[in-house]
Amino acid sequence: MELLDGKYWSNAILDEIKSELADIKGKISPDIGLAVIVVGDDPASKVYVKNKISACEKVGITSKLYTFPTEYTQTELISLIQKLNKDSNTAGILVQLPLPKQISEKAILETISPQKDVDGFSPYQVGLLSIGEKSLVPCTPKGIMVLLKKYNIPICGAHAVVIGRSNIVGKPISNLLIQENATVTICHTKTRNLTDITLTADIIIVATGKPKLLTADMVKDGSIVVDVGINRINGKLQGDVDFEAVKDKCSYITPVPGGVGPMTIAMLMSNTLEAYKRQNGIS
Ligand code: NAD
Repeated sequence: MELLDGKYWSNAILDEIKSELADIKGKISPDIGLAVIVVGDDPASKVYVKNKISACEKVGITSKLYTFPTEYTQTELISLIQKLNKDSNTAGILVQLPLPKQISEKAILETISPQKDVDGFSPYQVGLLSIGEKSLVPCTPKGIMVLLKKYNIPICGAHAVVIGRSNIVGKPISNLLIQENATVTICHTKTRNLTDITLTADIIIVATGKPKLLTADMVKDGSIVVDVGINRINGKLQGDVDFEAVKDKCSYITPVPGGVGPMTIAMLMSNTLEAYKRQNGIS
């Protein structure tokens, strides 16, 4: 068994982005800015945002953090995003999800300029991804694909089973795997005989938010397991895979923490750089 070391590759990618940015900076005038907007006080969001801001500092992206109380209104948020859409020093806009109940996620994602949508959640970017056109790909699925490629995992013709069908992980990773010619099965809460399906998988991606959902009896020998889950159990991070039991059956597996999470952050920096380059006509 070999670990798919997201921490290592994330750092390597951040170093590459840092040197590319240093090369571009100074040659053109707009700042490379990422606006990060947080509404409410979700504890997990605070941790994610802290990590995103610190990655910006590491690579040389100017982050601007906007934090608002839970009562902040949809109208106020839309008007801030419209202002940032027009700001040439803001290359990327990220609204941390989840949002408080009074704010429609859909309305917010539709307001972010598709060119600045570094999370890749807006309908326009989702549409581009689903027809296989160049797009700003959601960071977690993009990070998983980069990680698989770093280890030369064969994807073409492989049977990939994705457990979870969310808009931010399950659906986009399924699309990316199809584009790389995998045969993809998407499973969810209503899937019957999940174990029968996972036992036929060459690659299993688990994104459910259910600790230790994937157990050793669900995995065939030599398979590749990617654990997207982040669950906080008694102050410790736990994935959706029963890592200790599953690891010996796998050829490759991601740890939690240190697998998909750091890759997600690196891809946010990559998307911000990509958005900046496109907005400024740099190829
Ligand atoms: P979600 O709640 O939006 O979706 C979960 C999906 O899992 C649903 O489609 C549901 O049908 C499926 N599911 C739930 N229980 C199941 C079961 N028993 N059997 C089969 N399918 C089941 O979650 P999400 O936003 O996709 O996130 C999933 C997990 O990944 C969470 O733990 C989240 O914190 C984590 N996450 C991690 C990163 C990262 O960077 N590592 C990024 C995004 C999400």
